[in-house]
Amino acid sequence: MDLYEYQAKDLFAAHGVPVLPGRTVERAEDAATVAREIGTAVVVKAQVKTGGRGKAGGVKLAQTPEEAAEKADAILGMDIKGHTVHRVLVTEASDIAEEYYFSFLLDRANRSFLAMCSAEGGMEIEQLAVERPEALARIPVDAIVGVDRAKAAEIVTAGKIPAAVADQAADVIVKLWDTFVGEDATLVEVNPLVRSPKDEVIALDGKVTLDGNADFRHPEHAALVDERTENPLEAKAKAKGLNYVKLEDGQVGIIGNGAGLVMSTLDVVAYAGEAHGGVKPANFLDIGGGASAQVMADGLDVILGDPDVKSVFVNVFGGITACDAVASGIVEALKILGDSATKPLVVRLDGNNVVEGRRILDEANHPLVTQVATMDDAADKAAELAAGA
Ligand code: GDP
Ligand code: MN
Repeated sequence: MDLYEYQAKDLFAAHGVPVLPGRTVERAEDAATVAREIGTAVVVKAQVKTGGRGKAGGVKLAQTPEEAAEKADAILGMDIKGHTVHRVLVTEASDIAEEYYFSFLLDRANRSFLAMCSAEGGMEIEQLAVERPEALARIPVDAIVGVDRAKAAEIVTAGKIPAAVADQAADVIVKLWDTFVGEDATLVEVNPLVRSPKDEVIALDGKVTLDGNADFRHPEHAALVDERTENPLEAKAKAKGLNYVKLEDGQVGIIGNGAGLVMSTLDVVAYAGEAHGGVKPANFLDIGGGASAQVMADGLDVILGDPDVKSVFVNVFGGITACDAVASGIVEALKILGDSATKPLVVRLDGNNVVEGRRILDEANHPLVTQVATMDDAADKAAELAAGA
């Protein structure tokens, strides 16, 4: 889960990383109140889960509370790269002597963690990474050893952070490591990490991605979920313990058992769809090993709830859960769903107890269900039905 800047900076503060005081508001007039409380010039910042807010006009300086309200009014409702601004952070403005870049991230390719650091941070960091990659230091971090003061000093030197603030920067980096590990993040990024005219080092922006697989260790992270921006079907699937993923620009809903089969089903449907005017998968759901009637009903309910879905392809290879159990699951699921099931289902069963499974579906003779024996032919049928719908 990606966090908003204000949430990221709340976590930073909890781990001792210096940040400036601020508060979020959803109404322009409240921005004036917060600015008055802070009592200095403030920065009004769009809270959206995308970068480049500064360039898009979503970060504005305000000298007075009245100006803070004006700036908030201009930013609230703004669209930044497809994200509507519902909330702004009003925070103490800082004088900036220099802007640095710093991040910790999970380096999947090297099965390790990585620190990235540069004395040339700020809004042009992407350009810097492309044009002068040597100016952006990349320092591997051993997951077992972690980051102590000595390691942080090594990172600071590699990033060419000036000596005058090297100690302060190293101190902040150790605390950012505490945040990264303590919160089970896969990304902690600070851009800019600023040097103030008084040589303080402060996190002026923050981007944090939390590792969902560690949610069980952090019940407190549940409060960070923003219902407003969560996809309602993904939320529903999550609540039922299902692995559901929405895709862009597709028409065929896909249900399968096992990640490998589901992935190859996506490819086969995309390929078959080419012959039907470019039909593509709309989403997919992995019902895993235990395809009980209830799991199948929950899965179908989610997949059919996606308005983009025109047909559904249920592709199951019976293993420990045999095809007859899956077939009964589908029949029961359609009973549970009743009139709310309205889209055609193409079912391909194979594997353990396939003959009995197919017999159960034939016997049920549900008007929405078409059985097809092979995966390729079933994909073609599902694409054809989606194209014709
Ligand atoms: P982003 O564009 O989404 O990464 O948003 P940032 O929070 O990084 O802000 C963009 C830029 O606005 C920063 O690089 C700073 O140059 C500037 N900025 C942000 N906060 C302040 C502040 O308190 N004072 C000053 N002078 N500039 C700021
Ligand atoms: Mn930034």
